[in-house]
Amino acid sequence: MSQHIVEIVHREEFSSAHRLVSASLTDEENRALYGPCYSLHGHNYAVEVTVRGPVRAETGMVMDLNRLMALMQEHIVSEVDHKYLNDDVPYLEGVITTAENLAIAFWRRLHPHIAAFEPCLLHRIRVYESRLNFADYHGPTAG
Ligand SMILES: [Zn+2]
Repeated sequence: MSQHIVEIVHREEFSSAHRLVSASLTDEENRALYGPCYSLHGHNYAVEVTVRGPVRAETGMVMDLNRLMALMQEHIVSEVDHKYLNDDVPYLEGVITTAENLAIAFWRRLHPHIAAFEPCLLHRIRVYESRLNFADYHGPTAG
């Protein structure tokens, strides 16, 4: 019997302030590296989560998208929306708040909650910092 593996995606949007600062660089080096992003500014972010799994014969679904939406709202959006990412979000303390690092941080927040829906797997987290720039994370690699 063939099994059908499908990826489902839910997107949420949030607005946050941040600035890019590396603690290992001087003020001058930070300004040279990050340019205008060294100053306090904001973005209209979006986060897209992809869950991959078999379509269940009894429901026709991989996972209830409303459930995925609720998990993203609870564990990602509610903690970052209208916040200053550098200071207001405990799990981002000491993190350079690039889209790359946000994708990794959001993975860590969400992964334990998706694991409960085995055999579905958290497949990708995509963080849009703007309409044109985004980062994709597929989870930690071994080693
Ligand atoms: Zn920025």
